[in-house]
Amino acid sequence: MVKKRKVAVLGATGMMGQKFVQLLAHHPWFEVSAVAASDKSVGKEYASSIGSRTEANLPNQVGELVLTEPKPQALDDPDIAFSALPPEVAGPVEEDFAKAGMPVFSNASSHRMDTYVPLLNPEVNPEHAEMVEEQKRRMKTDGFIVSNPNCTTAILTLSLKPLQDKFGLETVVVSSMQAVSGAGYPGVASLDIMQNVIPFIRNEEEKVEHETNKILGTLLKPAGIIVSASCNRVPTLQGHMEAVFAKTRSSATPNEIIRTMREFKGAPQQLKLPSAPEHPVIVRDEEDRPQTRLDVDEGNGMTVTVGRVRRDPALNGVKYMALGHNLIRGGAGCSILNAELFLAKKLIK
Ligand code: NAP
Repeated sequence: MVKKRKVAVLGATGMMGQKFVQLLAHHPWFEVSAVAASDKSVGKEYASSIGSRTEANLPNQVGELVLTEPKPQALDDPDIAFSALPPEVAGPVEEDFAKAGMPVFSNASSHRMDTYVPLLNPEVNPEHAEMVEEQKRRMKTDGFIVSNPNCTTAILTLSLKPLQDKFGLETVVVSSMQAVSGAGYPGVASLDIMQNVIPFIRNEEEKVEHETNKILGTLLKPAGIIVSASCNRVPTLQGHMEAVFAKTRSSATPNEIIRTMREFKGAPQQLKLPSAPEHPVIVRDEEDRPQTRLDVDEGNGMTVTVGRVRRDPALNGVKYMALGHNLIRGGAGCSILNAELFLAKKLIK
């Protein structure tokens, strides 16, 4: 029986924080020992503070935790911190936790593009994990920060990785249809989004374009892929759908692309990590799949479902649809899988 690591969830009352708590509630390696949020929540019991907003059936010991400030000294010495704080708050808070000697696995964008912070999608670039050694050396501490990608980028890069490995990638064009839960709570006003599509999500396109190149690049060199993103908010609850157009370096037929995606496995599958889906990418044959409502929970929300793989005459490449769960593969699930990878690779003491 493995001794469980004590973990803190920072920003535990938000959309992503609640997903963290839900996924960690019955985790074989981790147990939630602390939850933190803003001043308005500090001092309240976790279950009562999220009230009817959660779908999760929380164990009593988690529901009864009292929310604290996100400060290392306010918490009961957890082994690991998971951060679901807003970017404007996360930057200095995560640094404080790392300086206090703690591994921080973050969903926020604050440190994603920092040189020595691994931007990790664990099936895609597990070798980037080693970069924390340089962070630790520079900060003179055992703590460090690991970021996971923006939700749209996590889904996109998982679908692209098999193609990059086998054929190389030259150009990627992506148009996203992103669920409202991606905007946090309370997010987009219902009167703005119902029966509507909003063709703008602040900073999202830049994140997809830059993060994709960092993730698919080598340790310190971006991949040099031309990435062009167009991001849209649509009235679905969970799950980002992406129309992807890719030009590979060597030519590939749609059937070769499908076979390559289906055969793909990463380090989390080889290491049999608890949150690793059996198949990181699945490809459906039906002409009208993936569909958000039907496919979003594939692989417990950790699998990206691809469909409609066909030739693209515009780029002389391929085009396909990719769907993933923004809060799980695109957020908390990815972060937890990163922490599992670090434990398996003995990068956490
Ligand atoms: P959210 O629903 O707005 O939740 C924000 C959380 O941070 C809440 O727990 C809130 O606590 C807490 N908080 C806000 N201001 C704070 C402060 N000054 N000090 C301490 N805690 C504070 O946002 P979210 O969607 O969960 O996103 C969280 C992070 O994940 C963001 O950085 C976001 O960009 C990133 N992310 C989100 C998604 C997604 O699909 N939603 C995907 C990838 C990445 P109170 O309840 O007390 O206000």
